[in-house]
Amino acid sequence: MHRMYENEDIVVFWNSDKCIHARRCVDGSPKTFCPGQKPWVNLGNAETKEIWQAISNCPSGALTCLYRHGIDVIFDAGNSRSVAIEGEKEVGECVYQESENGWNIYHTGVSAGYQGKGIAKRLVYKLLEEAEHSGVNVTATCSYARKVLEE
Ligand code: SF4
Repeated sequence: MHRMYENEDIVVFWNSDKCIHARRCVDGSPKTFCPGQKPWVNLGNAETKEIWQAISNCPSGALTCLYRHGIDVIFDAGNSRSVAIEGEKEVGECVYQESENGWNIYHTGVSAGYQGKGIAKRLVYKLLEEAEHSGVNVTATCSYARKVLEE
């Protein structure tokens, strides 16, 4: 399962398949990571510094985080994509094709000047979240998206 959680400063990525239940996250920020609650990650209850530190102690890589850089990532179902937006400006997209086998992600792109901010990963995660909520299978011919799926 892939999930993304955000506050004003950071984006937290969660890949449940990698979790080895070492609970370093819970010990490091107990008000943020609350197993048994839904959602189990709540970024409004602690300082970003504490959350970041707790995530950096995750031994498995199940939890990772990046700065948001003021960029929003939304699902654009009408155009079969997720899109990254800064203000009014589109700065990236991740596009899929729908078939009877599910969604195939065939393109992920981020505008010049916006690389290195984790936007592409957020775009792929947004599609994975949406697909998992709907019980849809996801494959990728886009090499970047495939890398995210396999990591
Ligand atoms: S620290 Fe990482 S591996 Fe341990 S419980 Fe938290 S997410 Fe899972």
